[in-house]
Amino acid sequence: MGTKGGNGNGNADGKSTYAKFETAVKEIKLLGSANALLSWDQETYMPPKGGAWRAEQLSLLAGLVHDRLVADEMGEMLERLRGPAERGELEPREATNVREVARSFERERKLPADLVREMAKQASLSQEAWVKARKASDFSIFAPFLEKTVELKRKAASLLGYETDQGEIYDALLEDFEPATKTRDLVPVFDRLRGSLVKLVQAIQASGRRPDLDLSPSRGLAAAAAAGGARREAKARLFPVERQREFALAVAKDMGFDLEAGRLDVSAHPFCSGLQVRDVRMTTRYDERDIVMALFGVMHETGHALYEQGYDPANAGTPMAEAVSSGIHESQSRLWENQVGRSRPFWRHYYPKLQATFPEGLGDVDIDRFYFAINEVTPSFIRVEADEVTYNLHILLRTELERELIAGRIQVSDLPRLWNQKMQEYLGVTPPSDAKGVLQDIHWSLGLYGYFPTYTLGNLYAAQFFAAARQDIQGLEGKIGRGELAPLREWLRDKIHRHGQRFRAHELVREVTGKPLDPDVFAGYLQTKFGEIYGV
Ligand code: ZN
Repeated sequence: MGTKGGNGNGNADGKSTYAKFETAVKEIKLLGSANALLSWDQETYMPPKGGAWRAEQLSLLAGLVHDRLVADEMGEMLERLRGPAERGELEPREATNVREVARSFERERKLPADLVREMAKQASLSQEAWVKARKASDFSIFAPFLEKTVELKRKAASLLGYETDQGEIYDALLEDFEPATKTRDLVPVFDRLRGSLVKLVQAIQASGRRPDLDLSPSRGLAAAAAAGGARREAKARLFPVERQREFALAVAKDMGFDLEAGRLDVSAHPFCSGLQVRDVRMTTRYDERDIVMALFGVMHETGHALYEQGYDPANAGTPMAEAVSSGIHESQSRLWENQVGRSRPFWRHYYPKLQATFPEGLGDVDIDRFYFAINEVTPSFIRVEADEVTYNLHILLRTELERELIAGRIQVSDLPRLWNQKMQEYLGVTPPSDAKGVLQDIHWSLGLYGYFPTYTLGNLYAAQFFAAARQDIQGLEGKIGRGELAPLREWLRDKIHRHGQRFRAHELVREVTGKPLDPDVFAGYLQTKFGEIYGV
């Protein structure tokens, strides 16, 4: 101990400290994944009366995870590893783990325990008020709770800190979801994207073309489209749920989802939870009148699941087996759901199978009608029902509002008016009620600020990754058209999944595509695809 200059000794000390450190980090992950398993159970199989006990279990485990992470012992290990990391004495994977755990340690230490408790309590009160307000479509029920939530988040953000010269307070919250991405990186990208999207939506609206069937009546879009002059069939098409499950699982397996290392269950709100590399749980929901929701929902969650199953098992329990950021995670789900799942080549292979599975529902629908129906673009009020084009305008609106809210440049009471104003400006529709407007999402009630932009970042990254894959994999679309999905999955695993958190999002995009984040790739993809469908 304390030997200076003897590089052998110093290195050995670094190695033994690192081994102890990795054991401690892995134990935190073991606790955290027990917590994740209990949450998964809560959403899938827990009997309704189990809620109160479960809440105590989750809160106890979350407390243990926090205590272990911010322990003085962890601080000392990180301090001792700083030197070896700086001198390049650690392996790259080890250096990544040290860097990322240090980042979490420093952030968590900045927030006093009583503030963390207050925020958790406020989130639960605020969520309750939000449910009531949405039901009554009355923003004034929610407003006082949201004001308190925003106040606490602003307090947390100033304790977490941000660059005061070029940065802004929103950066401190964005960091939770997109480490190292700053508001100043997002704003010009989103502004540029908004311009192309608004133009494309207007052109599509003006084209007058509409699909003549609605395969997803649960989305509630039929009414909106009917108002736009579309003529829909009155016939109810039925898709038995058990066959939907089998078909979706078969696609997930073709994509590479390992059923020996994962599951698919049902929950009210679909999600994917990676407990560890070899145990990844995803969920979906079914509606027998709707062939779109579960099928594309499962492709989406499988995209997330392949990321979780794609880490190197040797790194289990460390940041090298975790996602770069929420935006990069979302890029994997959107790539499979949209770039692959809503493409013509994909359905060249899968549509005959889908038709054979649902002869009563699709026997009279040819592939062109089907392809148009799953790619309909319609301005609508509800984000989760939105299509590939309009979806991002919903996100830009939310990002702009929450950034201003956290900066204190607008007030909670301004939200309903500004929301409706932007909906009109970007999508040409004004929500008829707050329930269909400012009250539709749960995020703000839970204190999730900085999360919304990661959905659009996911789309932008997905477009860039897919474009790079097309260059790297010869005849990729031909392969997809023959149902050969393995080459794409292997490419994603090699370029993205196995690296865990080794690269930051902006480094990864450069590493994989040779270019920085660029909204024009996504805008170009949309223009090509929907230009053909709508003749614009
Ligand atoms: Zn997702």
